[in-house]
Amino acid sequence: MNPYPSLNPHPRILLGPGPSMVHPRVLSALSMPLVGHLDPDFLAIMNDVQALLRYIFQTENRVTIPVSGTGSAGMEASLCNFIEPGEAVLIAINGYFGIRLADMASRYGAEVDTLERPWGEVFDPDEIKMALRRRKYKLLALVHAETSTGALQPHIREIAAAAHDHGALLVLDTVSSLGGVPVEIDAWGVDVAYSGTQKCLSVPPGLAPLTVSERALAVLHSRSTPVANWYLDLSLVEKYWGSERTYHHTAPISMNYALREGLRLVAEEGLDARFRRHRENAVLLWEGLQAMGIEMFVPAEHRLPTLTTPLVPEGVDEAAVRRRLLNEYNIEIAGGFGPLKGKIWRIGLMGFSSRRENVALLLAALREILAS
Ligand SMILES: *Cc1c(COP(=O)(O)O)cnc(C)c1O
Repeated sequence: MNPYPSLNPHPRILLGPGPSMVHPRVLSALSMPLVGHLDPDFLAIMNDVQALLRYIFQTENRVTIPVSGTGSAGMEASLCNFIEPGEAVLIAINGYFGIRLADMASRYGAEVDTLERPWGEVFDPDEIKMALRRRKYKLLALVHAETSTGALQPHIREIAAAAHDHGALLVLDTVSSLGGVPVEIDAWGVDVAYSGTQKCLSVPPGLAPLTVSERALAVLHSRSTPVANWYLDLSLVEKYWGSERTYHHTAPISMNYALREGLRLVAEEGLDARFRRHRENAVLLWEGLQAMGIEMFVPAEHRLPTLTTPLVPEGVDEAAVRRRLLNEYNIEIAGGFGPLKGKIWRIGLMGFSSRRENVALLLAALREILAS
């Protein structure tokens, strides 16, 4: 007898910082028959995925590919390919994912300098310009949408120009912004940007969209040491995704089916309509929470539409509220961590999760729980 019951996870409503809900069309793409990683059918799918990724990143960058792995693999690829041991990098930190960037960069042998802001705040381009004058940096990295705080970093164009003035590349984390708020790689002059499938793209975790400018590719191709990470070495990976199609590692075939379908959904909706939907549903949530006397942690001008961080009301056990949301309503939201532990909730309205009915359901559930 088989002691394991059949797989039967709860049909949750995922309103946390990721993963977000997966569109049914993406789920059905995952069930398509497998082909080989050099099958003509798959090569066509690879071309579609790259073209659709260029559309969503708003870029002409030739090297625009899905890296195998979750968003963190995109983060690794964005650092390891452009850092050689002993080089100085500048990381701007205003939340947890900035800390992760600094940690990763140090593991590739970089001398890491940081510019820090309290969690929840954003950077002024002038302070970044000042920090860039400290010494010669290979790259400047920062997070566009800090999922640990709910803050959206503005002025990316000005920050990229400042990095270029000092001869540095700009690396941007767009994991929880791509597909939810505008990300304009070419117009802003971003050199390297990475994202993840599981946040605003309505695709399960497993691939990390990445785009690399010609300026960054020139840096990669003029390295004097090999990239310290074989799996994520773009000088090898780009040959598989480019015209050579030479084997490097087996692409996650089914995840690429899923990503293609998720990106097709973005193209059908259109970027502007998609950004509008994310903003409108976020505003609905903010207004609903405020009507219950709950205030937001991040001021409106820097507030991220894809991830809302309400302050936990005085005297409320935030973990108990989350437990009841999950157990009684099937709704997942997250708590804060680090300096924000116990102080905020983190509510994601990303991709297929960003729907009016989800906002209404969450507000009704919170109202019932907080009243009792
Ligand atoms: C989720 C997230 C990551 C990491 O992505 P994983 O898919 O968990 O590896 C990196 N940066 C930001 C801003 C994120 O929100």
